[in-house]
Amino acid sequence: VAYVPHPRNLGELQLIDRIRNRASSKPFSALRLGIGDDCAILKPPPHHDLLVTTDFSLEGRHFNRNWNSPASVGHRTLARGLSDLAAMGATPLAAFLSLALPKSAARNSTWLDGFLDGFLALANLHNVPLAGGDTSESPSNHILADIILLGSAPANRALRRSTAKPGDLLYCTGALGGAAAELSTSSKKRKPSSAASNPLLSIHYSLLPASPHLFPQPRLAVGAALLRRRLVTACIDLSDGLSTDLAHLCTASNVRAELDLAQLPLHPFAAALDEAAQITALLHGGEDYELLFTASPSTKIPRSVANVPITRIGRILKPQKSKPQMSITTDNTRFELHPQGWEHLT
Ligand code: ADP
Ligand code: MG
Repeated sequence: VAYVPHPRNLGELQLIDRIRNRASSKPFSALRLGIGDDCAILKPPPHHDLLVTTDFSLEGRHFNRNWNSPASVGHRTLARGLSDLAAMGATPLAAFLSLALPKSAARNSTWLDGFLDGFLALANLHNVPLAGGDTSESPSNHILADIILLGSAPANRALRRSTAKPGDLLYCTGALGGAAAELSTSSKKRKPSSAASNPLLSIHYSLLPASPHLFPQPRLAVGAALLRRRLVTACIDLSDGLSTDLAHLCTASNVRAELDLAQLPLHPFAAALDEAAQITALLHGGEDYELLFTASPSTKIPRSVANVPITRIGRILKPQKSKPQMSITTDNTRFELHPQGWEHLT
């Protein structure tokens, strides 16, 4: 594609106006200046650290227009970033959104309007302003959305994945495998779900997500409560799947983990799968956006935090040369667990 330097085209400016008109105009204490100038101006609360995370949502890799409605793409784009803040116990301050839209989606605002429906419903739910971004017509046929989230946490208290201790117990929020199960059904249908209406508008957000793949629920209230109540030693969000994210936590903390398959909370969506597919969804299915955390055995972990159920799923141990980093027990048989796989332990 030939590169011709050019000023913003009219289409792009109109899209930015559309976004600006729909972004919340209500005042946010941390946001001094939002969309409209060269930069946004933020003032984080005193005695807090600033946390920053960025995530791409790429068509064909993170979503597919055949089964993700525009509202689902908007919701998921923001949810990915919010979940990273939740994992560290942070409170969101502001979101920034960079969008590249192919000509077809840039010249007709239907797709963008649907995207903003999903994005802004979730933003309003969690009280996070859309404070800026960038918009461009893309020379390719693929939609690209990049989300940047800023959050704050009390100074030196953000939760980390590197601080689990041998002897700790391992917990997760909500239920697992729902997103993988829903994706396998909706990708077979090959058309955006008729539940394109956002279930967040009709159900209370703290229950298990009714549509875990299309509209996952980042666990911000849980993360903030775990931090505030000093309940956890380490925390990570489940974006890549339990086996992968637990390996990240174990590596970062230099510990090993033992899981018990019977204790893993299966999302009701995954209950319809056959048993092998259920186990795969539980252990390796990604994008549930639940939290995985560790706590000292002397800490009493409530059965639910911020109305979200908490389940004990295993324990953390000292690393040992003769033992795998992760193992899982089922029917009195122990398996070695790998990121995205498992094998019989001999
Ligand atoms: P500049 O050229 O000075 O970087 P832009 O013309 O790209 O500014 O954007 C104008 C204003 O609109 C800025 O405040 C920018 O943050 C905001 N903006 C542009 N695109 C988006 C978007 N996709 N989402 C939110 N705000 C956006
Ligand atoms: Mg500028």
